[in-house]
Amino acid sequence: MLISNLGYPRFGRERTLKKLLETHWRGLLDEEGLLTGAARLEEAHWHRQARLGVELVPVGDFSLYDHVLDTAAMLGLVPNRFEKAGDGLTRYFAMARGGPDAPACAMRKWFNTNYHYIAPEWDQEPALVKNLPLQTYLRAKDILNGNAKPVLLGPFTLIKLSKNVPQWRRAFDALSPLYAQILRELDAAGATWVQMDEPALVLDVTGEEAEALTAAYRTITKGLTGLKVMLQTYFGGLSQYARLITLPVDGFGLDFVHGYPENVANLKRHGFPPDKWLGIGIVDGRNIWRSNLRQKLELLRQVRSYLPTTKCWLQPSCSLLHLPVSAADESHLPAPLHQGLAFADERLTELRTLARAVKEDETAVAAELAAADQAQRALAEMSNRVVPAVRRRVSALGGTDFGRAVPYAERRELQSRRLALPSFPTTTIGSFPQTPEVRAARARWRRGEVSKEQYETFIRDQIAEWVHIQEEADLDVLVHGEFERNDMVEFFAAKLQGFAVTANGWVQSYGSRCVKPPILYGDVYRDRPLTLAETVYTQSLTSKPVKGILTGPVTMLNWSFVREDLERDRIAYQVALALRDEVADLEKAGLAIVQVDEPALREGLPLRTNARAPYLSWAVRAFRLATSGVGPETQIHTHMCYVVFGDILEAIEAMDADVISIEAARGRNALEIFKRCAYHRDIGLGVFDVHSPRVPEVEDMERVVRQALDVFRPAQLWVNPDCGLKTRQQQEVAPALKRMVTAARRLRTEYRPG
Ligand code: GLN
Ligand code: ZN
Repeated sequence: MLISNLGYPRFGRERTLKKLLETHWRGLLDEEGLLTGAARLEEAHWHRQARLGVELVPVGDFSLYDHVLDTAAMLGLVPNRFEKAGDGLTRYFAMARGGPDAPACAMRKWFNTNYHYIAPEWDQEPALVKNLPLQTYLRAKDILNGNAKPVLLGPFTLIKLSKNVPQWRRAFDALSPLYAQILRELDAAGATWVQMDEPALVLDVTGEEAEALTAAYRTITKGLTGLKVMLQTYFGGLSQYARLITLPVDGFGLDFVHGYPENVANLKRHGFPPDKWLGIGIVDGRNIWRSNLRQKLELLRQVRSYLPTTKCWLQPSCSLLHLPVSAADESHLPAPLHQGLAFADERLTELRTLARAVKEDETAVAAELAAADQAQRALAEMSNRVVPAVRRRVSALGGTDFGRAVPYAERRELQSRRLALPSFPTTTIGSFPQTPEVRAARARWRRGEVSKEQYETFIRDQIAEWVHIQEEADLDVLVHGEFERNDMVEFFAAKLQGFAVTANGWVQSYGSRCVKPPILYGDVYRDRPLTLAETVYTQSLTSKPVKGILTGPVTMLNWSFVREDLERDRIAYQVALALRDEVADLEKAGLAIVQVDEPALREGLPLRTNARAPYLSWAVRAFRLATSGVGPETQIHTHMCYVVFGDILEAIEAMDADVISIEAARGRNALEIFKRCAYHRDIGLGVFDVHSPRVPEVEDMERVVRQALDVFRPAQLWVNPDCGLKTRQQQEVAPALKRMVTAARRLRTEYRPG
């Protein structure tokens, strides 16, 4: 039984890759410097995994930006607009980040994770430009003494993730010979195994697709002499198990964590082909809790009892890309919590323990098992794991807690009388530029170099300056600017009980950007206001309405590492109650508008259709619980950016927010969907793209609104940027806001609401 890994965090414990990339993009490191630095890091990761006992080390999982983009570039899937974008790396980064006159390719969520990939576009017939896995394999071969396992994204998943694929069957036919060539060359170079990632096989696979898969994999694997193919699935159970398990490959990697119990049930019911190997994804590649090793051993016994042979590997449930590198950096946390964590390196150590227990016997790892038991117990016994008052409050929730007392139509009347806003009211999404100055002030405060009072004064000065800018621009609804927040989730996590914040728990989100998800480990409650002081201060500076800004309960969960000993809906209600208290405080302090952001509501959507309704049901209830405690004349906003709305429109309606703000600058897709359902509530159109440094013209912004007028009535529309402005420069923002207000004014003279 070999120990295999599926992928390792790319950035390194010091986030070396981030530094390399960003210095290269700033022009301070040439291509060769970047490539050498990255290769060194990649090799260090190979050594590290080998040292931790991995016997099949993934190579080719590393990427300078994204592995889907790597695969597309390798297969010549370069959109026409990048033809003139230079060659090699320049063009590669232009596809990812946009070039001088070619907008970037679309960025999308990688399944239900917080990793984003660059969506391939099929402008061209695919062609094999270079054999990337082969190049990496040749580099890794000697370093890893034959333990290198090339990794490659499979054709089915590649097609599923692509944009404008002409006809998927034809696409499949075009890709298969190219993949066949890649594998033949790897075979000739002496590789023994290749890991073909096909996570799309856990989605709802149709009968027609299954048929095409069989034909494609027959072509791909034909004539291989020594090379074996491990078809790797993850993030769920293998769809159409009985049928797909017979695909002409040498092994199947199955996820027994996120595909549990489905994969076990199928294994039991349909068996496993005796000629194939099974990669048993036994430890969690997505969450950070130390494994219960005894339970894992039990599961392993069960899985192996259904196998006709002993041909199996032990591996994580998916690539460790989604975990931080090592929990060793988190010793500042309370000991029981720290000892209860397993990041990437600790996961690999767990695999080694499990493998020894199987190969020798359990007594050989008695010490490790006892330590895991002890850690498990200590975590469970932490005093804030169960806070009776919080549990009681959640249990006591009833129907009326989840809904507003007055229906939307009546609320709208009351609110419009109270707020007396002009038509096409203007506002922003919450954050203003997090300048180096703001960041430096926060760092100084964290290091204890300035007092709390000094830091708070600094924040107040920022607020005052931006209230002035907003009044100058003549915006209708003002915000405080979120200067005190490093991150919309971490800020709240740091203030709420039940959350812990890591020191070095970075995970790649996209490109060079990493996020540091908080850890939700205990019962959540609010023991002091979270945003009240800054918001109330802001309102004291202006006679215009100020909008309080909170991060919603579902986003808090979806962007954190969450405990697994309590149902997710219960946890969401705990967070929602904490936010409900904050909303109540804001209302009591006189605020007329509160926005509760839910940008991550959509991404928590389960991969399989049949699991979606239950998720949406509790997600919507959690949002309503957070927001429905207010009176009818208090206006609740929500914000969601870059969301595929099609499959959640009903849920959005059910959230019962008074106003929702969405992205509208980049395309009409969102609008078309709203048209279909005749959406009748107020909606804030994101009239400019906050991710682009270009300040749009008044006409551009007006056009976005005008185009929306065949979908919405003028009286429904608000005018705002499409997301927070924290990443923009101050010089860009002030003029952009002025133009936005000018656009709204022009629209007002033209359309009278009705
Ligand atoms: N209020 C947040 C901001 O303005 C919203 C960010 C988001 O939607 N991701 O930054
Ligand atoms: Zn947003």
